[in-house]
Amino acid sequence: MRRVLGCLVTLLSLMSLVGCGSNNKPSHPRTFREIDDERRALPALYVTVKGKTSIAPGDSLPFSDKETHDICFPAYYCLNPNCPAKDQRKDGHPFVFGHVDPLLRVGPNGELSQIELRQGTDVSKERQRLGGYDVPTCPECWKTRNRSSEKEADRQKYQNWVKPYTLPETTQRIKELDAEEVVWNEYLIKLKNRPLPEGTEKETKK
Ligand SMILES: [Zn+2]
Repeated sequence: MRRVLGCLVTLLSLMSLVGCGSNNKPSHPRTFREIDDERRALPALYVTVKGKTSIAPGDSLPFSDKETHDICFPAYYCLNPNCPAKDQRKDGHPFVFGHVDPLLRVGPNGELSQIELRQGTDVSKERQRLGGYDVPTCPECWKTRNRSSEKEADRQKYQNWVKPYTLPETTQRIKELDAEEVVWNEYLIKLKNRPLPEGTEKETKK
């Protein structure tokens, strides 16, 4: 009986050392790395060329839909107060559009690659010739712009109005993760400033 008790005590002290008590509560807050992993996997909105939306983990890179092989581009929206599409909504979201790259194509297994261009081709010009833009651009505002007489300041204004679209639930979770990061930082500071165990200082001075 005593032996059993002894084993039990050893087991319990081991459990408290590795921080796996009965409630499974870790002995320290989540690390920056763990928080960052969750941050990068938060759901994001993607849009196809035809405007079909879908939600996937947000790593900000285009991918091809497993079933349709449509390319899904990260979603953007337009803050221009006079945007022709400002009152249009799509699947409960403001008017969103993808930063479409027409130079991308989908292989037979769904893999993405860039269309092969002849050597010396101006990539930017070729992209625009195929209906794409070098920077995220609102397609509805684009139709109203007079590109030949547009001043640089106006071009910049249109560019600044376009922002990456973040899902409301992701915005909320980001705030919580920011707060968790503060807790982790405070934990690290506390760890750095904790008093040394008795006698440690004396020994190091020897
Ligand atoms: Zn617009």
